[in-house]
Amino acid sequence: MIKFSNSYAALPARFYVRQNPVPVEDPQLIAFNAPLAGDLGMVADRADEAALAAIFSGNAVPEGAEYLAMAYAGHQFGNFVPQLGDGRALLMGEVRGKDGGLYDIQLKGAGRTPFSRGGDGRAALGPVLREYLVSEAMHALGLPTTRALAAVTTGEKVYRDDGALPGAIMTRVAAGHVRIGTFQFFAARKDTEAVQILADYVIGRHYPDLHAEKNPYLALLEAVAVRQAALVAQWMGVGFIHGVMNTDNTAISGETIDYGPCAFMDSYDPHTVFSFIDEFGRYSYGNQPKIAQWNLARFAETLLPLMDEDAEKAVERAQETLSVFAQRFQEDWLEGMRAKIGLAQKEEGDMALLEELLQSMQEEKADFTLVFRLLCDVADSENIESGAQEKFEALFGNPRSIKTWLEKWQARLAREKAKPATRAAAMRKRNPAYIPRNHRVEQALNAAVREGDFKPFQTLQKVLAKPYQERSTYAEYEEPPRPEERVCRTFCGT
Ligand code: AMP
Ligand code: MG
Repeated sequence: MIKFSNSYAALPARFYVRQNPVPVEDPQLIAFNAPLAGDLGMVADRADEAALAAIFSGNAVPEGAEYLAMAYAGHQFGNFVPQLGDGRALLMGEVRGKDGGLYDIQLKGAGRTPFSRGGDGRAALGPVLREYLVSEAMHALGLPTTRALAAVTTGEKVYRDDGALPGAIMTRVAAGHVRIGTFQFFAARKDTEAVQILADYVIGRHYPDLHAEKNPYLALLEAVAVRQAALVAQWMGVGFIHGVMNTDNTAISGETIDYGPCAFMDSYDPHTVFSFIDEFGRYSYGNQPKIAQWNLARFAETLLPLMDEDAEKAVERAQETLSVFAQRFQEDWLEGMRAKIGLAQKEEGDMALLEELLQSMQEEKADFTLVFRLLCDVADSENIESGAQEKFEALFGNPRSIKTWLEKWQARLAREKAKPATRAAAMRKRNPAYIPRNHRVEQALNAAVREGDFKPFQTLQKVLAKPYQERSTYAEYEEPPRPEERVCRTFCGT
C-alpha cells in the first residue's frame, strides 16, 4: 500500500532514536485525505477503514516503515533548550509523491519516545482536529504547509489541564521535518561534522541546485531566508498567526509546521495574540517577520563553522546574507498586498496607500478578511448597483474614515490597465472568502470532543477546501464571530 524510502534513517545514529509506536486500544478512523494519499502514490481504499485506522494509529506496521524519533533542540520563547526532539511524533518513513518530491509521513501522538521528557507522548482530539483543519485550509489557500493525511481516535483518554480528553493521532505529511532546531542540536554539541551532514542532507532534499555553489552553506542560509520571507509574507496576507514561532517549529523546507495555538485574526490589529502561553505577545501577528529574522540568525550561527575557516569572516558573510530576509520580506509582502487591492503595476506611493488602509482598519477594528473580500466587489464596477461600496464602508466603525481612502484607491486604479471585471476576478483569487475562523474551528472541535459529533468538522473541511470560491450555502462561514462567539484564547493542549 505504501512504498517507503528511509533517507533519514540512513543518516548517522545520533540523528534519531529508533522507536516503534505504542499500540492503542481502539483505533477509529475519523478523517482520511484520499486525494492527498493519491498524490503520494498510496494505494488506499477508504472502504477499508479498519486497515487504515490500524496503520495510522501505529497498531499495524506497514512493510518498509522504519519508525524513528528525530533529535532536535530549539529556542522556545527565546530560551535555548539543548534537547527537545520528537517527544510524541514518529517518522514512519518517506514516500515519493507523483510530483517527484520526497515526503515524510509522520505520526503525531503515537506514544512516548526517549525525547518525551515528562510528556505522555499522546495528543488530544481537539488539537489533532485543529491541525487537520488549519493545515489543509492553509494548503487550499495556497500557502506552503505540512499536510494532514489522516486522523484517528485511539479509544484511550489523555489527561490535560482540563481533565480527561479523548486521545487521537494525526498523520502529517511534510516535504521535510528538519528544523532550525535540528541544526541547533548538533551545533550546541560542537558536532560540526553532524551539522555538515545535516546541511548536505537538506541541500540534497530541498535545495539541490546549491550543491554547485562555491559556498553551498552560505547559499543554504540565503535560500532558507528567502523561503521564510515568502512564507511569513503569505501568513501576513491571510491574517495567520502561528503562535509558537520557536526555532524548533521553523522548518528548513519553508513549510508552515507545528500547528498549535495558531489562529486567524478577525478584526485587524497587529498586536493580536491568541496563544494562551504567549504572555508577552512575542509571537503576535505583527511581530512575525521580526521573529522569523531572529530565528534565521540562530540558524546562521549553527552554520558559521562551515561558512569560513576564519570565524570573523564567517560572521561577516552570514550577516550580509541575512540582510536578504528583510529585503525579500518587504518585496514579497508588498507584492502580495498590491495584488490584494487589485494593483498589477508598481508605483512609488503603493506602500503609503496600503499603510493608510491598514491604519483605518486598525482604528476602526475592521475585519481583515472581509475588508479585502468586499473590496473585490467594490472593484467590480458592474456591482455599483449592488451596494458593494456601502457594505464595504459598513465594516469600518466610522465609514467616513475609509471614504477618503476609497477615493485615493480608485484614482490609483484608474492608472491600471486591467478592466474592472478582470481586476475583480484576479482579486478574488487573492482574497479568500473563507478562512478557518477561530470561533468556527472551536465549534467544530467542541462538537467532536464533547458530543462525538464530527459533522461540523466535516462541513468546515468542505468550506475551507475552496476558500476563494463563494458558495451561498456557506454564507454564514464568511461572517466574523458575534460578540458572544468570539474566541480570544487558544491552547496548544499538549
Ligand atoms: P510543541 O510545543 O508541540 O512544538 O512541542 C515542543 C516539544 O515538546 C517537542 O519536543 C515535543 O515533542 C514535546 N511534546 C509536546 N507534547 C508532548 C507530549 N504530549 N508528550 C511528549 N512530548 C511532547
Ligand atoms: Mg514543535
